[in-house]
Amino acid sequence: MTADTAHGGHHHHDHHGSHGSPGEMVSVEAHLADILSTVRRLTPIQLAISEAEGCVLAEDVAASRPLPPFDNSAMDGYAVIAADVAEASKDTPVTLRVSGEVAAGDTGAYAVTPGSCLRITTGAKLPAGADAVVPVEDTDGGVAQVAIRIPVTAGDSVRYSGGDARQGEVLLPAGTRLSPMQIAVLAASGRARADVYPRPRLAVLSTGNELTDPGRPLAPGKIWDSNSYMLTAAAREAGCLAYRHGPIPDDPLEMLPAIEDQLLRADLIVTSGGVSMGGEHDVVKETLSRLGTVSFRKVAMQPGMPQGFGTIGEDRTPIFTLPGNPVSAYVSFQLFVRAALGALQGQPDQRLPAVPATVTGPLRSPPGRRSYLRGVLDVAEGTVVPLTGQGSHQIATLGRANALIVVPEWVVQMNEGDSVEVLVLP
Ligand code: AMP
Ligand code: MG
Repeated sequence: MTADTAHGGHHHHDHHGSHGSPGEMVSVEAHLADILSTVRRLTPIQLAISEAEGCVLAEDVAASRPLPPFDNSAMDGYAVIAADVAEASKDTPVTLRVSGEVAAGDTGAYAVTPGSCLRITTGAKLPAGADAVVPVEDTDGGVAQVAIRIPVTAGDSVRYSGGDARQGEVLLPAGTRLSPMQIAVLAASGRARADVYPRPRLAVLSTGNELTDPGRPLAPGKIWDSNSYMLTAAAREAGCLAYRHGPIPDDPLEMLPAIEDQLLRADLIVTSGGVSMGGEHDVVKETLSRLGTVSFRKVAMQPGMPQGFGTIGEDRTPIFTLPGNPVSAYVSFQLFVRAALGALQGQPDQRLPAVPATVTGPLRSPPGRRSYLRGVLDVAEGTVVPLTGQGSHQIATLGRANALIVVPEWVVQMNEGDSVEVLVLP
């Protein structure tokens, strides 16, 4: 499609979704369900484990060997035959001949015979014949011979093969997000690579004639663009490769090619601004009606009521058109875009963690809409302070919040001491 035809629009294609006529609101859950039923998981790729942190496993990872792979010592000390030292005590130590030393990594064939022992280090293979280890601190530390001051029984200070995991045991099921702990498990089980969902590539575009890049002087009537930076950062925090496209004017001639360009590289596109209800400058709707099927609707929430979601381009790339007010855009990202990112990685139930808390002061919420109010959660106290300045343009309050207080649709007021659900912000 040429930019010319794009600009020749004389009609407003408003694609309303399956959820009623314009003006009618859909619930947060219904909107989320539409998103999750549309977004397809990405094709898994193989990544080196050094590159895989933050990705989601697309395969079950099982232990290829028992862990540990061989019986070994849990302590620095002496590998003994437990029966030899069964009577040892501080007052009547048992003396054994020390026939040598076995260290971690030694591959030689060592053996212990009755009356003798081997010095051994932590992680060294337990010598043939030995069935226990006496920690060095319970001996005199002797080199040619050693006085053992405690009795031990078979298995003491021994880490048995398979005692951590059996061969074939699933260590990490598909769907596991790989944190450093899980990277350790992959490495310890000998895996150099793993099948994972690739990091979603997310393109962010902000729209609005009033937007100026931070760092540039501000002309009267203009504001600095915060959304594109915020959304790109939120996407990276959520494990994406995020690309930011600076402010696009409210002009389909400029917007159409900018969005089309993103189709080449993005698994998901997020725009901000330009979707207010019925505004004549709202060119995002007009532009997208030429590229795919995007429905614009009112979601019964505050902030973030005007939401657009659908797919565009040959690959049916999912696109979110988020409202321009920064708090609305942020809340929308955490509720909806985050869920879509999970779905791209085979994790459709990815949500912000929710905890119960007690509000420390009064708060208000409009009837029929679920509010997400910025608050300061004290996990230890189990309290949440509702911040003042809850307007959806009030970004200063966003900078002080660490949580969103969820006020159900039909609750219009809460008071100090009331119980709420709180979403913990990442
Ligand atoms: P819109 O959704 O375009 O009608 O914008 C709603 C409000 O959000 C207006 O006050 C805009 O100036 C503001 N806004 C839109 N985009 C941004 C942005 N990228 N950064 C900060 N504020 C924005
Ligand atoms: Mg705008």
